Amino acid sequence: MSSQQPYSFFQSVEKSFDKAAKLTKFDPGILEQIKACNSVYQMRFPVKRDNGTIEVIEAYRVQHSQHKSPCKGGIRFSEEVNQDEVMALASLMTYKCAIVNVPFGGGKGGIKINPRNYSVYELEKITRRYTSELVKKNFIGPGIDVPAPDYGTGEREMAWIVDTYASLKPGEIDAAGCVTGKPVTQGGVRGRKEATGLGVFFGIREVCNMQDVMAKLGLSTGIEGKRVVVQGLGNVGYHSAKFFREAGAKVIGLAEYEGAIMNPDGLNEEEVFQHRKKTGSILNFPGATNLAKNSDALEMECDILIPAALENVINGENAPRVKAKIIGEAANGPCTPEADEVFIQKGILCVPDMYLNAGGVTVSYFEWLKNLSHVRYGRMEKRFTENQNSIILGQIEGLTGKKVTEKERGLIMHGPDEVDLVHSGLEETMITATREIMEIWKNNPDIPDMRTAAYVSAINKVATSYSELGIFP
Ligand code: NAD
Repeated sequence: MSSQQPYSFFQSVEKSFDKAAKLTKFDPGILEQIKACNSVYQMRFPVKRDNGTIEVIEAYRVQHSQHKSPCKGGIRFSEEVNQDEVMALASLMTYKCAIVNVPFGGGKGGIKINPRNYSVYELEKITRRYTSELVKKNFIGPGIDVPAPDYGTGEREMAWIVDTYASLKPGEIDAAGCVTGKPVTQGGVRGRKEATGLGVFFGIREVCNMQDVMAKLGLSTGIEGKRVVVQGLGNVGYHSAKFFREAGAKVIGLAEYEGAIMNPDGLNEEEVFQHRKKTGSILNFPGATNLAKNSDALEMECDILIPAALENVINGENAPRVKAKIIGEAANGPCTPEADEVFIQKGILCVPDMYLNAGGVTVSYFEWLKNLSHVRYGRMEKRFTENQNSIILGQIEGLTGKKVTEKERGLIMHGPDEVDLVHSGLEETMITATREIMEIWKNNPDIPDMRTAAYVSAINKVATSYSELGIFP
């Protein structure tokens, strides 16, 4: 809990939950059960550093809910990791999965290290040891708990996890499904890497296509021409910026750890990324203006603000200075409950994290299904669809006496690749979830904001599942 924060992260999730729970009619006992973290595993293990010293590592895995199996949620490597944070993130995962209709319970893991302070060899040892600790306590497995990447981790760490798990569980045919976010060569699915950023884009695009919502905000419908600011140029921030820019929005501000830059004519995230790689900083990007502090980007005049770095970055202190009309919570927990109150008063629409950044877990679900089915998406139908399309096109051309261009032929004939199916499944998921939440909000005038509507959607689904399961014994 920081000095300006009256609540811990987990308490702020509980507070948002309670606000929504009051608007539902479920048994208070069921609501208490949903809110609680079912299992918290705190561990310590030693690791030998490259210089020969031994360091004790603190790590966690939290399983918030088992109303559906397996539990699902990322693993974060950060110096800020603590039990409260992991519990909060695990509970958000339960609600997130329910909202986007992904049949998992919520989980989350964390290792309290700054990965920048460790060599690749040391990181591999830490990741593998963490995995074997999870195996020992039955806290990982395709039907138990399935981790994924989060802040500070990526494909590389997931490959180490699946390799460690498979070596400790010889003969387990579904071992590849013990973790998602793996490299494609290790059982990963195409489209996973960009999934969270693309989901953020699909969710905000759907909101921007709602005429009544845009009219209230004084904005035109559609993404084209919207001014966007993104905080964090990591996996989620980079891909969010990319998809907004490609759809015709202008990314006028970008913030990173070391500072922030702005350009009213728009920034290209890939060029900024390359500049940062070359110079070690986002600052002094050609044609852009440096901002005094990285947090200044959050207060820029813009239409859409995408915080895609860490939690609690918009709080009671700086929320009154936020000028964006829409906030798209790409990160987990970037806005505090105090900030939410300010947004309600100022008429700012905050599109909440627990559904907006569900692209990662949605595509993780597709990856897990692929691992369990042992077949690549599109393998069975791609060729068949292309042959059918060829026959249909041939018939149309024969009947009309006209020929389509080569480019049109390519588009019409194309059978779905894995990435096409994954993107399409994600688009469908995000559009459906956005509409379900907006419907709940519109139909209940007591719901003050979209976060509460999203919580109500989650509570409806999880409570129904608990009620139907019955309480044992
Ligand atoms: P990442 O490590 O790839 O990127 C985070 C970036 O934020 C880094 O580049 C870091 O330097 C930057 N950053 C840190 N502090 C900052 C600050 N004060 N100002 C500006 N930039 C700062 O992590 P990620 O995977 O992109 O995750 C980002 C957020 O999105 C986290 O909250 C995570 O929980 C959430 N999230 C990630 C996924 C996923 O699939 N990766 C899915 C759902 C939610």
